[in-house]
Amino acid sequence: MKEEIHLPFPQEFLAVKQGIKPVMRKNFFVKEYVEMKRVENQIERICKEFKLQFLFKDIGNERVLYISKNKDIAKNAYVAEKTNNPKIFGKLLGYPECCVDFYTNIWQSDIRTSTKEGGNFSFVYLTLNRTKSKPKFYLNNIFNIQSRIFTDDMFSDYKKLLSISKFHMWRFYIISHVPCSYECKESTKLAKSIMKIMKRKIPTLTGEIVKALKRPFLFFDDFNWIAFDGFVRGNEIIYDQVAPYRSLYSQRKFKKGDIVKISDKEILVFKEREMIHKIKKKNEQEGIIIDFS
Ligand SMILES: [Zn+2]
Repeated sequence: MKEEIHLPFPQEFLAVKQGIKPVMRKNFFVKEYVEMKRVENQIERICKEFKLQFLFKDIGNERVLYISKNKDIAKNAYVAEKTNNPKIFGKLLGYPECCVDFYTNIWQSDIRTSTKEGGNFSFVYLTLNRTKSKPKFYLNNIFNIQSRIFTDDMFSDYKKLLSISKFHMWRFYIISHVPCSYECKESTKLAKSIMKIMKRKIPTLTGEIVKALKRPFLFFDDFNWIAFDGFVRGNEIIYDQVAPYRSLYSQRKFKKGDIVKISDKEILVFKEREMIHKIKKKNEQEGIIIDFS
């Protein structure tokens, strides 16, 4: 059997190669990537091999990479980003218009700062608020937090998260954008076509990604959540064990349990119907069930 190709951002890369997305974009926090030169050499080599064009540009504190079949299109994406034109930028990245509008509206409003002060802010809550039916695992963006970091505190939490994770968790996503809901039709369509090519080219990694995404989560904020091997029933998660993907939230209280029950004020952990832990919620938003199973 042919060995799987190793790409730094396989789902994005394959989507561009396949013509599903005109451009892919990846940001590197310069503070994080001391080995930027090595990364750039690797990108150059891979793009040559796959006959794709790449462009590195500095925007603020970040070094941004654009890959496309056509260098002008890559340049257009850079210009759209630099001149703050989200509509054109989103279109070039192949993002659905509904999701671009959703993201832009939040970005331009003061909801980020106001919610941050009031408690936990996460795009995940906002996406979930607009989800009326069962969330689709294709659109699970819990692991893919890189694009949602906008404060120094978040950046340092992000670094902590990377350091404790034994998986390359940031690779666990199918779509790279923030969806307007976890049932967004256009995003699901896009995710399915990306997944089709992933299954063909990187079947092992695709299996790992689906396994990580398709499960219930107890979510606090972008850096604090617990993933379970189990299923959701009403306001409960019934589980065999806590999944091995770690966030900054301690798994300790959940490890021995088999049911988590959520109310407005508390999170209760049970073992064989006996309550073994009670965690007071700081606010109503904290500790919500997201059923991607
Ligand atoms: Zn959408």
